[in-house]
Amino acid sequence: MIYSSTPSSKAKQAVADVSHIPFWLDDPAKPNPEPPLTQNISTDLLIIGAGFTGLWTALQAKEENPNRDVVILEAGESAIGASGRNGGFMDASLTHGFLNGYSRWREEISKLYALGVQNLAEIESTIQRLGIECDYQNSGEVDLATELYMLDDFKEIIELAKPYNIQFQYLDRDQIQSVIRSPIYIGGLRRQDSSLVNPAQLAWGLRKACLILGVRLYEHTPVTNLNEENNKIIAHTPHAKITANKAALATNAFPPLLKEIKQYVVPVYDYALMTEPLTPSQRDSIGWRGREGLSDANNQFHYFRTTADGRILWGGFDAVYHWNNGFGTRLENRPASFALLAEHFSQAFPALEGIRFTHAWGGAIDTCARFSPFWGTAHNGKTVYVMGYTGNGVGSTRFGARVMLDILDNKKSKRTELEFVKSKPRPFPPEPLRSIGINLSRWSLAQADKNQGKENLWLKAMDLFGLGFDS
Ligand SMILES: Cc1cc2nc3c(=O)[nH]c(=O)nc-3n(C[C@H](O)[C@H](O)[C@H](O)COP(=O)(O)OP(=O)(O)OC[C@H]3O[C@@H](n4cnc5c(N)ncnc54)[C@H](O)[C@@H]3O)c2cc1C
Repeated sequence: MIYSSTPSSKAKQAVADVSHIPFWLDDPAKPNPEPPLTQNISTDLLIIGAGFTGLWTALQAKEENPNRDVVILEAGESAIGASGRNGGFMDASLTHGFLNGYSRWREEISKLYALGVQNLAEIESTIQRLGIECDYQNSGEVDLATELYMLDDFKEIIELAKPYNIQFQYLDRDQIQSVIRSPIYIGGLRRQDSSLVNPAQLAWGLRKACLILGVRLYEHTPVTNLNEENNKIIAHTPHAKITANKAALATNAFPPLLKEIKQYVVPVYDYALMTEPLTPSQRDSIGWRGREGLSDANNQFHYFRTTADGRILWGGFDAVYHWNNGFGTRLENRPASFALLAEHFSQAFPALEGIRFTHAWGGAIDTCARFSPFWGTAHNGKTVYVMGYTGNGVGSTRFGARVMLDILDNKKSKRTELEFVKSKPRPFPPEPLRSIGINLSRWSLAQADKNQGKENLWLKAMDLFGLGFDS
């Protein structure tokens, strides 16, 4: 299956009247922002960023020790970053999938998988305990083949995972058509270790729980500078400064406050569409009663899922890097990517011809060369950070936050002893090599999709050096 590279006029028309507000944030449940910081204050633990990472850090810190004073500073509003604009696929994997984890941390893959399953179970129990309404669906995920060679890849993954007691299920063409009716999917790999969530509602629920526990949250308060003075961390904001004993950075793909992060993380823009709600007959035409999270197995892949009100979110394919870690709201609107996504949607679901899209948006993914989170410290261990989730942070941010607290509190745990936690990704080179390398990788990955998955010399060399590009 080769996806069209030029959108038809119908596809352009289908995205002509969209709102560019991310669908999840276009919700009356969105809370009013907390006031910004206007006076100098001090705290024990300062958290910068109120997406999933920052909120999970605050929640776990407070639940562990209710007397701990915790402040969050958020540049915009909670969930305004990737946490409020993602697909809502919540994967147990901490390693961007079993295969990436297996190829990089084979010795630890059992432990990593078990920790990931535990993390997902603890997210589920937290959602229940706190009564967060976020359309949590434990419906699993199915990877879909659009080409015969992908079926062999699925069979290989199943065999590789077996010795670790990790169960994946192979689905043939008939079985796939009972999951989703589409002419382009010919088989699949079912994983039960994944859930779906309305991500903004989850973030807002965590935010509310933090506020109830006494976390002080200041929104519209960007930290402009972070440094260490007299054994304390000082964060400067436009109107006031904050003095903290310790700080946790949860700023993801945003321009980093610590220089060293820029070598490890590149912001990569990913785009998504949301359809109008399907009519009952449209819904019958495609089946999909299980509400599984779906994605195809191409390098340039699409991910898609349904919502509580019966829409389809359809995202992915383009993953765009801009020169010198380019970042900003202007990059979230990319009509060419939206039209291409609409074209590919019509190839996957010809039965839904004429359906319109209501929302189209983009967001930055914090891509690193190993596609999995990494941790680091600064200011003599008083500041810690985690990032690099590479499009797989809806679930693993909770684990990322847990490890940040372990590190800040000098707590040795089964988590902090992992090579996965102690090691860092390979750095990206500076510009212009950074852009050249990333764009060559993107081109090579697209070529491999057109060539039965066969990797060219560039991709083989990248694999050899543990380097990669993904979203
Ligand atoms: C389009 C898209 C689709 C995705 N789909 C999925 C998916 O289906 N499944 C999955 O697992 N992952 C997905 N991801 C990735 C996932 O959303 C992220 O890994 C996760 O949300 C990261 O959470 P975070 O809290 O670390 O970052 P963010 O949610 O980006 O939060 C960072 C916060 O820090 C704040 N901030 C930044 N700098 C400062 C500063 N100087 N001062 C104060 N505040 C600051 C920002 O305003 C922001 O609110 C997707 C991402 C995108 C963009």
